[in-house]
Amino acid sequence: MNQARKLLLMSTPVGALGTGQGGGVELTVQNIAQELQQRGHQLEVVAPLGSCLKDVRVKEIAGNFQVAVQTQSKDVPITIPRNSTLGNMWQYARQVQTQYDLLVNFAFDWLPFYLTPFFATPIAHFISMGSMTHALDEIMEWTAKLHPDRIGVYTKSQAETFAFAESCEILSSAIDLSLYNFCATPGKSIAWLGRIAPEKALEDAVAAANITKVPLKIYGKIQDREYWQQIQQDFPTAPIEYMGFLNTESLQQELGQARALLMTPRWIEAFGNVAIEALACGVPVIAYRRGGPSEIVRDGITGFLVEPDSIPGLVTAIESIDSLSRIACRQQAETEYSLPALGDRFEVWFDKILTAH
Ligand code: UDP
Repeated sequence: MNQARKLLLMSTPVGALGTGQGGGVELTVQNIAQELQQRGHQLEVVAPLGSCLKDVRVKEIAGNFQVAVQTQSKDVPITIPRNSTLGNMWQYARQVQTQYDLLVNFAFDWLPFYLTPFFATPIAHFISMGSMTHALDEIMEWTAKLHPDRIGVYTKSQAETFAFAESCEILSSAIDLSLYNFCATPGKSIAWLGRIAPEKALEDAVAAANITKVPLKIYGKIQDREYWQQIQQDFPTAPIEYMGFLNTESLQQELGQARALLMTPRWIEAFGNVAIEALACGVPVIAYRRGGPSEIVRDGITGFLVEPDSIPGLVTAIESIDSLSRIACRQQAETEYSLPALGDRFEVWFDKILTAH
């Protein structure tokens, strides 16, 4: 192990951990906290009231949530509600900062970047999405200029959405492989998994299911109810079934039964934790060749990369999916996306920051 550190992990302020409101960063916070603690680092996670994490100490903070920025336009100004969870979280961080070597920010929000030079304890920023709004781009770029070593991202495609791509530490993602069982023989359905919101373009997966008549099971938090209703109206006879938002234990059991996972993001997906969860179960991934999934899927081996926004492309891929080896999928997850590998990358990053500090 590297030198043991005292770390304060600042979670997303858009919702409590475990609710799905924060998307993939919830799983990332759980995984990185668990792995770093297991390596002997002392840590606490600061997160909204009601958050639950497995085997990790959480300081719960009350207040009103931030609005998820991906629902807003490029020009949207920064807003902070009264009695803000984000503000309260950073108030707490200010009070306890001297007890820690490093603060790690997981919020895709303006305030933690702005506060960076005002804190005595260094703050590392893990950015969980690509470029979203001008105001955020600006503060992130300003922070990257001030501290070029303190910005971490999931993937190269994500980093390239920012002007400060060169300063980004590429950290990728990982899952606790022991929680995901390999399933050699799938059922008849394919799966779609994630937040039900326009940037995820679930309608493309539904359109492909409607053409192929292969049943599609949908899992995840309904973030935008109108959008979900519109999809149901547009495809009244599509063979789809909404299965709810499941915890990891139930999700992996269900997911393993799928012939494939469809990933149809309209935006530049920063990573796509659902891709590596599928691979860990032995499920090949059919994804648009765009953003994070295009760096994960090995085209023709552990899935298919399809021309972005092409429904015929999805259809062809679905029709060829059973030719792929499910064992190869699990193997890729084991070799590239294990928690120890992620822990190594984060430790190297933290050491660089603390040495420079
Ligand atoms: N997820 C879940 N239960 C579900 C559906 C999804 O826990 O029923 C989680 C999934 O494990 C993943 C996250 O939702 O961690 C989606 O993250 P991803 O990185 O794919 O996309 P994001 O939401 O960050 O854009």
